[in-house]
Amino acid sequence: MNKELMEMYLQLGLSPAVIRIGEETERRLEERFREIDRRAEYNQMKVLKAMQECRVNAGHFAPSSGYGYNDDGRDTLEQVYARTFHCEDALVRAQLTCGTHALHVALSAILRPGDELLSPVGKPYDTLEEVIGIRESAGSLKEFGISYRQVDLLPDGAFDYDRIREAIRPNTRMVTIQRSKGYDSRPTLSVSRIGELIRFIKDIRPDIVCMVDNCYGEFVETTEPTDVGADMIVGSLIKNPGGGLAPIGGYIAGKKELIERCAYRLTSPGLGKEVGASLGINQTFYQGFFMAPVVVAGALKSAIFAACIFEGLGFPVLPDGTVSRHDIIQAVELQTPERLIAFCEGIQAAAPVDSYVRPEPWAMPGYDSDVIMAAGAFVQGSSIELSADGPLRSPYTVFFQGGLTWYHGKFGILKALQRMAEEGLVALPETL
Ligand SMILES: *Cc1c(COP(=O)(O)O)cnc(C)c1O
Repeated sequence: MNKELMEMYLQLGLSPAVIRIGEETERRLEERFREIDRRAEYNQMKVLKAMQECRVNAGHFAPSSGYGYNDDGRDTLEQVYARTFHCEDALVRAQLTCGTHALHVALSAILRPGDELLSPVGKPYDTLEEVIGIRESAGSLKEFGISYRQVDLLPDGAFDYDRIREAIRPNTRMVTIQRSKGYDSRPTLSVSRIGELIRFIKDIRPDIVCMVDNCYGEFVETTEPTDVGADMIVGSLIKNPGGGLAPIGGYIAGKKELIERCAYRLTSPGLGKEVGASLGINQTFYQGFFMAPVVVAGALKSAIFAACIFEGLGFPVLPDGTVSRHDIIQAVELQTPERLIAFCEGIQAAAPVDSYVRPEPWAMPGYDSDVIMAAGAFVQGSSIELSADGPLRSPYTVFFQGGLTWYHGKFGILKALQRMAEEGLVALPETL
């Protein structure tokens, strides 16, 4: 490392031992980082091609207000998403307030009283428990007479095909497949495995709507679940596809007929996609989507870097430092609440915004235990920006994700390590 950069890192509070661990780790990852760059290059071209084919022009950035009729920028953006994800249509809206909301709209657009929803990949993301009614909640799908069934993955992470076949009932209307492990400790699903599962379900009952919760998965691979048979994919714009620039929003992409139903559910029967003013937000949505492949690549490098460092220090990590990646989340089992808190403090201290505040564990809406969250983000709660969080429950796993640039991701991880070392919570080896 050159003297200038070394000096800068020292000024920012890293010790020579931590800097050296970072250097050695980065050198070991050169080949994998090249692979990530190549995938990002492909995805960048995929987005660019869609934008060119849709003839995106500066007029599309103009704001609309009121009802938002004839908002060509909004409508064209939805076509850019649809083309990029190789599907018929999309709904990309600021009025989809977050990922959970987008998923709720998608589920409640399709499911009707008496229908059943099946998750063949185990427990869904925490906030979905209240949407579905797994945990009692006012307004849940359960309150509307929609039942839910779940088949867990086998201990080795494989699909339990026998039990999935049994779980498909005459009233099974929809299947929800979560791509990312979220706050769970199962493996994240690759696009190709999602494809196998969808084929299995469609062979039994082709009319079942297969929805994929695509949160954290966009642009990690060169294909998306819509390339392998998913009827709908759903995600959050303050994660991967917003590229760090979208200040709000969610998307649903898939079959035209299903997207139409989602639009009727989001706005109103009869109105659908026709309303929903974009209020000047279009440019950040376009530009964020354009940047997303590169931002996701930086986040992936950061995740792998974290896995390698903490695995080297003897902590269980998921995924490990060697396997191929299917989302941008890195889980590290820190085993004590003190380490979890110190890790998050380090991430916070590395942030461009709110670097001087100290995160504390707190009860969060939608989560059933206290959660600590570190995020010095430009956009509140954005987890494509460098962020770390973890529920305060054994085994005190920190879920680490994001980083708008690889350099910032790297620094955040080193800062987390630094904080843990300073508090005597981890011993730094002479060599890794
Ligand atoms: C983040 C996330 C959600 C919910 O998205 P929010 O924007 O936080 O509401 C749902 N599913 C998965 C897998 C997620 O990672």
